[in-house]
Amino acid sequence: MDKPVNKVPFVGLDRQFTVYEDSYLEIFKRVGASGWWVMAPSIEKFETEMAAYCDTKYAIGVANGTDALVLILKALGIGPGDEVVVPANSFIASAGAVAVVGATPVFAEVATDLNIDPAELTKVMTPKTKAIMAVHLTGRPSDMNALNAIAEKHGVVVIEDAAQAIGAKYCDKKVGGLGVAGAFSMHPLKNLNVMGDGGFVTTSDSNLYKKIKSLQNHGLASREDCIEWGWNSRLDALQAEIASFHLSLLDQWTQRVRDVAQLYSEGLSDVVCIPKEREYEFNVYHTYVILCDRRDELVTYLKSRGIDTAIHYSIPIHLQKPAFDQGYKEGDFPVTEEMARKMVSLPIYPTLKNDEINHVIASVRSFYQAT
Ligand SMILES: *Cc1c(COP(=O)(O)O)cnc(C)c1O
Repeated sequence: MDKPVNKVPFVGLDRQFTVYEDSYLEIFKRVGASGWWVMAPSIEKFETEMAAYCDTKYAIGVANGTDALVLILKALGIGPGDEVVVPANSFIASAGAVAVVGATPVFAEVATDLNIDPAELTKVMTPKTKAIMAVHLTGRPSDMNALNAIAEKHGVVVIEDAAQAIGAKYCDKKVGGLGVAGAFSMHPLKNLNVMGDGGFVTTSDSNLYKKIKSLQNHGLASREDCIEWGWNSRLDALQAEIASFHLSLLDQWTQRVRDVAQLYSEGLSDVVCIPKEREYEFNVYHTYVILCDRRDELVTYLKSRGIDTAIHYSIPIHLQKPAFDQGYKEGDFPVTEEMARKMVSLPIYPTLKNDEINHVIASVRSFYQAT
């Protein structure tokens, strides 16, 4: 018999390396020997593959997911005096990117799926609103038909922050192609990762594509000619090769995390609130977030049984210092604040084993049944 599980880590990157070690070493040797370490043909190859995967005309490799957002905002001409609506519950970068281009992030209430609640959205839109940032948090698509309809009515665009949602679908359509442009991250903890930082933009708009290509490479039209001020936000050749390799595995990885999620959901639906998939969504479970009572006690209990968890995110963005400075305060977004008290993310990644999943399920169940 296998020995009982006594440790379930939250992250499985060391396991990922062990499984694919031979391929990684082969990539490193090949890129190293080529001497072509930036702006290599492998980057265009990755961009072509990724555009095909996301069903968009273009993809552009960039330095990280935050830059992907910044480049989209800049290319749209969004800047000082403009407002961009961002969900109050997201990773901080969604709001930071808006501030970095000189615009103001304006927060919107989320629903229990942790994405913008379309019914609350118009309350925070003003004549200064230029864009809505639809974050597909936890790997679940936002309600894009509703958001696009509101955007159209107000004459603004929808930008997708798809950093957590590669491969997710809304009404059978992939995220990244559901708004004017999509921003993706390949940070080590994202579903399609690289060994460091990386990201990409998706769009089918040829003008946006050209503008982002220019901005990310110093505004250079050629080696000699600079046509506008830009900066350097490129994907490295090594990371592009790793990303292409991971893309060939992505559907298999997604299937496994969806299987993990299903085991959790079957094992836990009667004791906590689980992320129930709606008809229109294909969730890629970047995180598996449960909503539960006595959350902090549960986290401590799970820790005592060797199970690592995380909270995404314990402090809503509107309660962070720069948002306080803008005038936001506790009580502004009651649903977001309630979610922040109730949510906890359970370990989920392709190399998580069934006996580990069973240990997590048994532990959550025993916590609620013991008292
Ligand atoms: C990770 C993440 C980002 C930023 O991506 P980086 O590659 O870390 O810069 C932006 N938005 C969301 C929702 C994210 O999860």
